[in-house]
Amino acid sequence: MSSPEGVNTVDFDGARVYSIPMRVRFRGIAVREGMLIEGSAGWGEFCPFADYDDTECGPWLATAIEQCTIGWPPPVRDRIPINCTVPAVGPERAHEITAGSGCRTAKVKVADHPESLGEDLARVEAVRDALGPAGAIRVDANGGWDVDTAVAHIRRLDKAASGLEYVEQPCRTIDELAAVRRQVDVRIAADESIRRAEDPLRVAVAGAADVAVIKCTPLGGVRRSLQVAEAAGLPCVVSSALETSVGLAAQLALAAALPDLEFACGIGTLSLLEGDVVAESLRPVDGYLPVPRRPPAPDPALLDHYELADPQRVSWWRDRLRRVRAV
Ligand SMILES: [Mg+2]
Repeated sequence: MSSPEGVNTVDFDGARVYSIPMRVRFRGIAVREGMLIEGSAGWGEFCPFADYDDTECGPWLATAIEQCTIGWPPPVRDRIPINCTVPAVGPERAHEITAGSGCRTAKVKVADHPESLGEDLARVEAVRDALGPAGAIRVDANGGWDVDTAVAHIRRLDKAASGLEYVEQPCRTIDELAAVRRQVDVRIAADESIRRAEDPLRVAVAGAADVAVIKCTPLGGVRRSLQVAEAAGLPCVVSSALETSVGLAAQLALAAALPDLEFACGIGTLSLLEGDVVAESLRPVDGYLPVPRRPPAPDPALLDHYELADPQRVSWWRDRLRRVRAV
């Protein structure tokens, strides 16, 4: 949308709803849906998961509006090291994903179900075999363990991996993270504890974690995420919310603007989707993604191809957007 008066405008009514199948079920979903919204400075993406309520969706919309109206703060680096993501798959597939990614760091999903330890150990061993001794392995339990299980499983996984870089969100609460952290030598990363906190700027995560996982899409944009990173006072890892390349570009802009970046980031997630809405997708090459100079625009033919067809789902998204704007 051109804006001759220099005013920031957003074409909410013209927002497009997409639906892209996942290659592997991830976070319990088989199809990724979201909206693409054009504004005076380009396109933004609004893609909160279906289980998020309207209040939680507010920051997701703020991220889309920042991107499509004012853009991002300037980058301090021009490429970002990327980790590959290994879902809860068997060891052969885990080996294949890791070896095929070109990445030197792998994030492995664990604690997918209560009896998963044997599968988790086999998956982590396969990933170590694919990465070689110089690669880094981190695991993500998505809050799936209690404290005792976390301590026991982390020790086993750390051995199987010949050393873990860190464990992401072993348990649900901050207090539990702190209790686990006192009992294991592996670094603890907080993800959901920050992202779903009532006030991410005030969550006291420093005693409970060594690393902060930040995702600008649910945190309200690049500028807001930089404030959250500063408030957390920990080394940060930028991680995706399973966006298309339009939304991933904002995550890259955040990784590019952080004053320090010690770890590979989890924004090489397009491979989890069957397709993309952008012609030149943000897929890592040799473990890196270049920082885009400006937000990518969707390709009209791809937008048509992945347009959500079910009219009831489309109105659900349009109603949701209307409600979240009103919050
Ligand atoms: Mg996580």
